[in-house]
Amino acid sequence: MAFDKLKEYCGVVAVHNHPEASTLAYLGLHQLQHRGQESAGIASSNGEGLRVHRSMGLVADIFTEEVLEKIRGSIAIGHNRYSTTGDSALLNAQPIMVDCNKGMIALAHNGNLVNAWDIRNRLEAAGSIFQTTSDTEVIVHLIAQSKEHTLPEAVCDALRRLEGAFSLVIMTRDRVFAVRDPRGFRPLCMGRIRNGGGADRDTMVFASETCAFDIIGAEYEREVKPGEMVVVGPEGTSSRFFAAAMKQSHCIFEHVYFSRPDSVIFGRSVGVSREALGRQLAKESPVAADLVVPVPDSGVTAALGYASESGLPFRFGLIRNHYVGRTFIEPEQRVRDFGVKLKLNPVRSLLAGQRVILIDDSIVRGTTSRKIVRMVRDAGAKEVHLRISCPPTISPCYYGVDTPEKSQLIAANKSVEQIREYIGADSLAYLSIKGMRDACGEAETPTFCTSCYTGIYPTEFVPVDQIHPMAVVDKKP
Ligand code: SF4
Repeated sequence: MAFDKLKEYCGVVAVHNHPEASTLAYLGLHQLQHRGQESAGIASSNGEGLRVHRSMGLVADIFTEEVLEKIRGSIAIGHNRYSTTGDSALLNAQPIMVDCNKGMIALAHNGNLVNAWDIRNRLEAAGSIFQTTSDTEVIVHLIAQSKEHTLPEAVCDALRRLEGAFSLVIMTRDRVFAVRDPRGFRPLCMGRIRNGGGADRDTMVFASETCAFDIIGAEYEREVKPGEMVVVGPEGTSSRFFAAAMKQSHCIFEHVYFSRPDSVIFGRSVGVSREALGRQLAKESPVAADLVVPVPDSGVTAALGYASESGLPFRFGLIRNHYVGRTFIEPEQRVRDFGVKLKLNPVRSLLAGQRVILIDDSIVRGTTSRKIVRMVRDAGAKEVHLRISCPPTISPCYYGVDTPEKSQLIAANKSVEQIREYIGADSLAYLSIKGMRDACGEAETPTFCTSCYTGIYPTEFVPVDQIHPMAVVDKKP
């Protein structure tokens, strides 16, 4: 069902020095499932060689005991994928693994390279043959073709040629490299499992979000810094900067929607940010009403914030079915709003006769919001006021979030009043950009990317569809 949400991009995880590294990577990926549900993969090393298993589908379905036994190792990296560039075939599933002149390496990428097709065109013109349509493969080619002799130098050389968003975990027979782009678009957290006997005996772990650490008993230490490469090997853990950090561009939408509220990213609790977004929304856009109702699940924490600031009761007036797969059988007779009804069902006893404030975290095309507002009205609500815990989404993302083209973004083409009219709400209000930044903990120095709300981008880029015919076509500015 096409639920009208921006799509998560990817999640990555890495484990170094643990007898069950592959299983820990599997558990971490399971916690990061919300970041990508199309495919998943784990590459591991048993100290002699690398093995990889990738498949389409969900983590728990792909990695059976038998599969995990086959990829047993003391070092592992893993990846959940929702395709943001390249098609969604198994071919593009990660980790990518190659045997090149620098040895065997496996690589997993969260983000999107804005100059990938430019690099690819140049490499292809020089004779390189690509196996996938994913932007990530250019990184592997750049590492293999680097004139630097050692792998760390070759990786740094390759990274300096990239532009855009990349949080990477790279694995060799005995090492893990964890890397973040100089603007720090996507999060990458570093943690440790204490094994006793000193730091060199500890297990080092990396993940897109800290919720992946909790399940494996790892302590969060810090983020990999923008422009930093952390290397974990037999000699211990070291850090170096492959590029000077640039003006920070942490994706604010991670706090608004993508990351789990139980995670810490960019050094801050997502739950704290999300509740503050709701409180700020209540301050900016109050309305006389009886109930605050979240659009579950992502609107829940902001709705708690709105309710506590406004003093209005919080109620679960919409219940979400968590077991909706990618395919479903529609009834032959058309049922109105069938798609939304698969996922959400109203609690009539709570909503009937009430003035309801609905809290959601975004409106993309407006089609789903319209159906949800109608659903709440049909359940007997007297008034429906929609409040959105971020500003209007007016521009596509080029840094790893799957957004429709501008013509499909309702806020790029209609005023707030026109959107209100289209979705049929009694009132509609979005959070201000300043309110969003403040709620996400930004004091004076701007550290967040807010390009999808402003249309102003921190990098120079060329829309990928104008360069490579196999690239996605949804990316016009
Ligand atoms: Fe995040 Fe929006 Fe920036 Fe993309 S454009 S990185 S979704 S804030």
